[in-house]
Amino acid sequence: MAVRNYIPETLEEALELRRDEHAIPLAGGTDIMVQHREGIGIAPDVGKPVMIISNLAELKGIRRRDDGFVEIRALETPASIASSDIVPWHVRQAAARMGAIALRNMATIGGNIGNASPKGDLPQPLILLDAEVVVASVGSERRMLLDEFILGSKKTALRDDEIITSVLIPEKEFTHLFYRKIGTRRANAISKLSLSAAAVIRDGIIEDFRASSGAAGPKVIRSREAESLLTKRQVSEIPDIADDFIAAWDRAISPHAMPRYRRNTTSRMLLHFLEALQDETLTGIIG
Ligand SMILES: Cc1cc2nc3c(=O)[nH]c(=O)nc-3n(C[C@H](O)[C@H](O)[C@H](O)COP(=O)(O)OP(=O)(O)OC[C@H]3O[C@@H](n4cnc5c(N)ncnc54)[C@H](O)[C@@H]3O)c2cc1C
Repeated sequence: MAVRNYIPETLEEALELRRDEHAIPLAGGTDIMVQHREGIGIAPDVGKPVMIISNLAELKGIRRRDDGFVEIRALETPASIASSDIVPWHVRQAAARMGAIALRNMATIGGNIGNASPKGDLPQPLILLDAEVVVASVGSERRMLLDEFILGSKKTALRDDEIITSVLIPEKEFTHLFYRKIGTRRANAISKLSLSAAAVIRDGIIEDFRASSGAAGPKVIRSREAESLLTKRQVSEIPDIADDFIAAWDRAISPHAMPRYRRNTTSRMLLHFLEALQDETLTGIIG
């Protein structure tokens, strides 16, 4: 049976199509077109009405808000995110390493979140930074932590009458920052593993410590239990705490494929960051 497709011209129209037809939003199409591909020259069949939202001006833009958040609208691409100097460092790092150039200009942050793949690159630094997602339906809006919006592998809390409109990232200064994506090659590599970490150290005290692991479980992992072992402690105590911290992180992750490799590599990256925290000559970006 033929399925109807739509190209709404306004967000309002798109929300009505979501409510009335439950039309599937297609932003860059780089996940949908691959997931539903039928073969060369044959249009993919999604099985439901599709609406192409890529023209919606209301879903574009990156700006610093007055309330301490950086707002990235849902249609912004990895290329625009990577080149924006108001987007926090960890998110720019992840955006700059997504796919190859063509993909970085086609894919969107809304699609990366909507797809909710455990290997998706943007949720990992966003969850590190306590980013929130805003979703809209006709006449209403919901806002929640991205960590709560993504429920598991390919599962989100998005209702079938809602559209992701933006991501809000709290602005925060860190004294130490770390990001690694481990893929098979430089371009077009889906993450085998990724890790972000960040800390605020003042007068020898770890005021804030956080980390997030990507591709190490059904969704991005932050272990509040492990983080609390280091937060508010003295830097000089790190050698005594490190083993317990690494063990707690290892319990939190649940890599499916190549678990030993993923566990060992995660531990090594975390130890590298902890060592850098103890070296007073190292601040800023930890390489
Ligand atoms: C060759 C190749 C390389 C890739 N490399 C990477 C990589 O390195 N890192 C990575 O993370 N991903 C990668 N991907 C996956 C993909 O490009 C990303 O997940 C991308 O961000 C998806 O965005 P999109 O706009 O194309 O999503 P779409 O395909 O348009 O949509 C994806 C899903 O999100 C939903 N959706 C989209 N926008 C919205 C919205 N505003 N509101 C609600 N739901 C929405 C759609 O309905 C669909 O379910 C790669 C894909 C390909 C084909």
